Amino acid sequence: MSAKPGKLIVIVAPSGTGKSTLMKKVRADFKGRLIESISYTTRDIRPNEKDGLDYFFVSKPKFEKMISNDEFTEWALVHGDYKGTSKRYVEKKMKEGANLIFDLDIQGTDSMKEAFGDQAKAIFIRPPSYEVLEERLRGRGTESEDAINTRLNNAKIELSRSGDYDYSIVNDDVNVAYNKLYRLIEDLIGE
Ligand code: ADP
Ligand code: 5GP
Repeated sequence: MSAKPGKLIVIVAPSGTGKSTLMKKVRADFKGRLIESISYTTRDIRPNEKDGLDYFFVSKPKFEKMISNDEFTEWALVHGDYKGTSKRYVEKKMKEGANLIFDLDIQGTDSMKEAFGDQAKAIFIRPPSYEVLEERLRGRGTESEDAINTRLNNAKIELSRSGDYDYSIVNDDVNVAYNKLYRLIEDLIGE
């Protein structure tokens, strides 16, 4: 076991803000220094996604069995689909002293803060405005109209929580936002 406990970094943002875009860069730049927790979900797989890389895609009965077996560090119903973090994976990586990064909704972020206190640092990524968020979500073209509306309604609640976390970054120009995120993560894992 490592003497120094690893950092737990949670990235939280309303759907369509650009979190996946930023996470892709984080994944490339922090390879080997930051380990990403891959969540389980019952959501349908998107054409550009890979099972085991973006998520572990499982059926609803399987996910519910995992809940009853206490296999999640946190889980939530997000936009109508189950999403959850594997307890076994997180505990194993924490024992090794790894720095871990999570991409969670506000419910999951709150659970992580409750469970791990200051060891978990939450970074809220905000869109420049609600209107821009809607444009990005529609522009991505990966959801049905119903799914877009669910995400937009939930975004109002999520945006009202933007000031409740450890840090907040606006994703207006993607390069500016990424530079801020990069420096912040460097500082956090370097502490
Ligand atoms: P999320 O993972 O938060 O749901 P995505 O990363 O999929 O969001 O981004 C939503 C859409 O917005 C994508 O089409 C992406 O290319 C685009 N996008 C992301 N960041 C920016 C930005 N800073 N400026 C303009 N478009 C962006
Ligand atoms: P998407 O369906 O667009 O991939 O993700 C929708 C939302 O689910 C995002 O806010 C994302 O952060 C959140 N999410 C992804 N994995 C998990 C998880 O394991 N737990 C929780 N609580 N939320 C998650």
